[in-house]
Amino acid sequence: MAAPRDGLEAVEAEGSAGLQGTSGIEVVLPLGPAVSAPLCPHGPTLLFVKVTQGKEETRRFYACSACRDRKDCNFFQWEDEKLSGARLAAREAHNRRCQPPLSRRQCVERYLKFIELPLTQRKFCQRCQQLLLPDDWGQHSEHQVLGDVSVTQLRKPSQLLYPLENKKTNAQYLFADRSCQFLVDLLSTLEFRRVLCVGTPRLHELIRLTASADKNSNIKSLLLDIDFRYSQFYMEDSFCHYNMFNHHFFDGKTALEVCRAFLQEDKGEGVIMVTDPPFGGLVEPLAITFKKLIAMWKEGQSQDDRDKELPIFWIFPYFFESRICQFFPSLRMLDYQVDYDNHALYKHGKTGRKQSPVRIFTNIPLNKIILPTEEGYRFCSLCQRYVSLENQHCEHCNSCPSKDGRKWNHCFLCKKCVKPSWIHCSICNHCAVPDHSCQGPKDGCFICGELDHKRSTCPNIATSKRANKAVRKQKQRKSNKMKMETRKGQSMNLTSATRRKKRRERAHQYLCS
Ligand code: SAH
Ligand code: ZN
Ligand code: ZN
Ligand code: ZN
Ligand code: ZN
Repeated sequence: MAAPRDGLEAVEAEGSAGLQGTSGIEVVLPLGPAVSAPLCPHGPTLLFVKVTQGKEETRRFYACSACRDRKDCNFFQWEDEKLSGARLAAREAHNRRCQPPLSRRQCVERYLKFIELPLTQRKFCQRCQQLLLPDDWGQHSEHQVLGDVSVTQLRKPSQLLYPLENKKTNAQYLFADRSCQFLVDLLSTLEFRRVLCVGTPRLHELIRLTASADKNSNIKSLLLDIDFRYSQFYMEDSFCHYNMFNHHFFDGKTALEVCRAFLQEDKGEGVIMVTDPPFGGLVEPLAITFKKLIAMWKEGQSQDDRDKELPIFWIFPYFFESRICQFFPSLRMLDYQVDYDNHALYKHGKTGRKQSPVRIFTNIPLNKIILPTEEGYRFCSLCQRYVSLENQHCEHCNSCPSKDGRKWNHCFLCKKCVKPSWIHCSICNHCAVPDHSCQGPKDGCFICGELDHKRSTCPNIATSKRANKAVRKQKQRKSNKMKMETRKGQSMNLTSATRRKKRRERAHQYLCS
């Protein structure tokens, strides 16, 4: 519930709005040693702030870090709220009840029993998304059950399980084969021996399949994911039930140690972290989590490696570039377009829809990363990196400036390249879509209206408070009304429907302009 994070559609809009503004709810980053946040079933909650109408006053509250939908987790507590002992006890009981019915160990034991069964007795309940042992059959007799589950099927759980794409909490978008294979080939070319897969179950799976097919490859993978269903298919050393928005290991210290050992093996040599978080997720908590994983890796390093960085692939839409680079200045964006299986819009371009907006951000030198020429990439010798064919080098910008794969045009007034459909507006004094309405910030930072950051990180936060009050007031009057209604948890009423529509339109405009 913390932010408008319902799937890619809204997220496109968020990207276009710079991830903020639309809801007026922002995450508050912990300063110094964190006061311990109250716990929901998904681990420590996050502190959010609602920017309230006109006045500067704000009231902060805790909400679930992982769930964008109150139906999935309805935790809510004002920061200054004192709970009675009885309510605290009830909450603890609730948190316990919400934990998965089986421990990680029990899952592994079930799996070991399962693979001992003859093929004809290996069943999978599609309704419950669960491998069944003979004792369970009775309970699932009315359900749709798949029989003869082969070893090959067991090795591809991402195909056996249905993607949780309708669940706002998971927003599971699985890599298309081509993109997944590209990643695996790239990891092997770069000679990584261990891959920490954070929210990339299909990549994890393909790495393991590749390793078992090729005797020479000894590449290992550890999957961290909130999708508990995967614990049925992997041993404790290859899957941890994990929340990447608060670095919470559901199985406590044992699981944390699995992760630590994995990162620190060989003094941290040969390991990379690959992550593909839900795009609706807030960038800040993700960045905090990744910094914790990086720190864990660093602890295991020898002294002379102190300046090294943990290699990272962070897969995210290109319009988050400035947000990501704000937290990780060493990350650069690749032109490679990541495609997904179960997202109609984000399949390989060329035919039909526009191309995927999803990219790889990495701290590996870009000249080491070869993009496939047969898929429309070329090497730019001036930039020393592979770029999209249409991304032409601009001699004025001295770069291949396009972010979306199309040819951009240089504007001499803006002194930079802009999207092909944009024209220079003399009223706004910068380039914009032809039918934009001049004046005033629309979405984006409450203070200055820029689209690439939010109020809390606005460079003008101190200086321009008064100057921008009017603008902000106007903006907030509009958005406050909307967010109050959603906050109260009302289901799709007219206002939120309109808001959604607006968001979709903005997303559309952004991506198509
Ligand atoms: N493209 C990837 C999947 C990305 S979808 C692949 O094909 O491998 C996002 C993934 O992040 C899903 O697997 C989802 O279960 C996981 N996820 C969603 N929220 C999470 C959270 N809070 N913590 C950890 N993993 C999460
Ligand atoms: Zn929760
Ligand atoms: Zn069942
Ligand atoms: Zn240019
Ligand atoms: Zn211009």
